[in-house]
Amino acid sequence: MLGGCGAWPEAGRACSGFLLEYEGFRLVLDLGYGTLPRLLALLGSPVARGLDAVVVTHDHPDHVVDLHGLFRARLYDGAELPRISLYAPEAVLDRVAGLEDADRATAERVFDWRPLPAGPHEVGPFRLESVALPHHVPNAGVRLSADGLVVAYSGDTGPDPALAELGRDADLFIVEATDRGQQQPGGSGPALDLTAREAGEAAAAAGARRLLLTHFWPGNDRERSRADAAAVFPGPVLIADEGTVVALG
Ligand SMILES: [Zn+2]
Repeated sequence: MLGGCGAWPEAGRACSGFLLEYEGFRLVLDLGYGTLPRLLALLGSPVARGLDAVVVTHDHPDHVVDLHGLFRARLYDGAELPRISLYAPEAVLDRVAGLEDADRATAERVFDWRPLPAGPHEVGPFRLESVALPHHVPNAGVRLSADGLVVAYSGDTGPDPALAELGRDADLFIVEATDRGQQQPGGSGPALDLTAREAGEAAAAAGARRLLLTHFWPGNDRERSRADAAAVFPGPVLIADEGTVVALG
């Protein structure tokens, strides 16, 4: 886990980001504020040598800003390396180019961009699928499977029946638990993010084996979130603390 904060990072933490490794293939899910230094440390490379693919769920800075840092590392000092496969909404590629005050072609010198596939699509050893979920901007829940192991990830989402299919029988279901109400009781607007309890309900409906809560609003009590989810989800409830490693299989 590279980071588990929503909106902006708490001191010493980072926003959304997860590194998946299978049979030597390394794929990152989201690259929010503060995730890049942690990714580079894990890879042991200042230019992210050994990173094969990036999947970004939606164009919000807490999920995408450090993709620009990765772009700079490869553009300035890793140009001989192969392009990184990038699966993301088109706006994400434009975001990277915009931060650089460059055009899309410049961003595509580093990233081999494609839209997120709805149907199954092979990315290295993984099978990637995505489904649209409700948020302030287009957001995709993604599902990655390899040799019968399944990881699903909600990105940012409001409650939606599609979450149960996204995480169906997943070995690990990563679900956002923004739980803004912990900081602003009663102040919630339209349901475009989840409480920890709703995350637990989605994981239970999906029949997931393990639930990994992430995207905690800064200041939230993560143990309270864990307890809220565990009240409705019968399996293990994990917390996306930076540096945590989960072995699947
Ligand atoms: Zn977010």
